[in-house]
Amino acid sequence: MSRAEAVVDLAALRANVERLRDASPSAEMMAVVKADGYGHGLVPCARAALDGGATWLGIALLDEALLLRAAGIESRILAWLGTPDDAWSECVAADIDLSANAEWALALIAAAARGHGRVARVHLKIDTGLGRSGSSVADWPALVDAALLLQSEGVLDVVGIWSHLAYADEPNHPTVKKQAEVFEEALSYAVSRGLTPDHRHLANTAATLNSPQVHYDLVRPGIGVYGLSPGLGTGRAEQLGLTPIMTLHGQFALVKRVPAGHGVSYGHEYVTERETTLGLVPLGYADGIPRRATNVGPVFAAGRRRIIAGRVCMDQFVIELGDDHAEAGDDVVLFGSGVQGEPTAEDWARVCDTIGYEIVTRIGPRVRRVYVGER
Ligand SMILES: *Cc1c(COP(=O)(O)O)cnc(C)c1O
Repeated sequence: MSRAEAVVDLAALRANVERLRDASPSAEMMAVVKADGYGHGLVPCARAALDGGATWLGIALLDEALLLRAAGIESRILAWLGTPDDAWSECVAADIDLSANAEWALALIAAAARGHGRVARVHLKIDTGLGRSGSSVADWPALVDAALLLQSEGVLDVVGIWSHLAYADEPNHPTVKKQAEVFEEALSYAVSRGLTPDHRHLANTAATLNSPQVHYDLVRPGIGVYGLSPGLGTGRAEQLGLTPIMTLHGQFALVKRVPAGHGVSYGHEYVTERETTLGLVPLGYADGIPRRATNVGPVFAAGRRRIIAGRVCMDQFVIELGDDHAEAGDDVVLFGSGVQGEPTAEDWARVCDTIGYEIVTRIGPRVRRVYVGER
């Protein structure tokens, strides 16, 4: 055990993938592994997701897609968030499926395909109401027609049409139905013009679990693969049949007695009420521990749950142990699956006014990832 370790349970990841597949039996599954597998480690999580039954990997950045290929992963991979200077050509050469939001992206993909003498696979994205990426409804006919022209030239194949939901974590929100209608219209237009997209996809984790009417051919869960709930409106992880796969451990760097009235950490936002023991944990905001966790972040140490005392600093924070015994080197669990009484990433999200996604994704590179449950 070192200063800090994120232990990632790949058997639990496979079980989460199976749970999500059970919820979407008519669709293929694309496991989303963007942002270094939501902070859990790109390649080990990608391999475990494929092992668990995913047939596709989804990723935001083009460079991340290339890392998967460089690791020898041969599954279908969709990359969806490129800028004009990105590695479009390398991705076409590496047989990555690419998303296009706009005609400039189609032009870059086509140029790469001509250069490599390949037929590039493209997924056209429509903004059905999220108001983020994807072609506007107004621009959709021109995007479809531009793609058709390049397809007839034989440089690309439009294999997918897709979109993303704004309120998937509230399945009864009116935008879910409205977005599905806009998606249907966009599909109808594309098909009427002659496109034959085999892969229509709209569902993230929340919609995979709760909205079967939008599963189409392929679902794209991310957070559920890592065992976290997509939002408290959807239910807690255990209610969803998901198990958090990361346990974040630290260990005490120092344990010491201090008198009553002793200020703790910068600004003395915590002051001891009586003579007590303080334990110093060498993890801080440089490791992704939110500074917002000051005086509210939960940890499990010396046999029970405790709350961070005083400000979270760059490399360290303090907890008060009262009269309980601990020594330097003892284990401190910040979050895990919760089954042994430790807090979960969702508990951290609640007290830090954020979402579980941010808690796990921001754990930095100074924290070693250790994998268990490999097959
Ligand atoms: C991140 C992302 C997903 C996965 O969303 P989760 O809520 O993590 O399941 C799916 N599709 C797109 C486009 C995304 O950006």
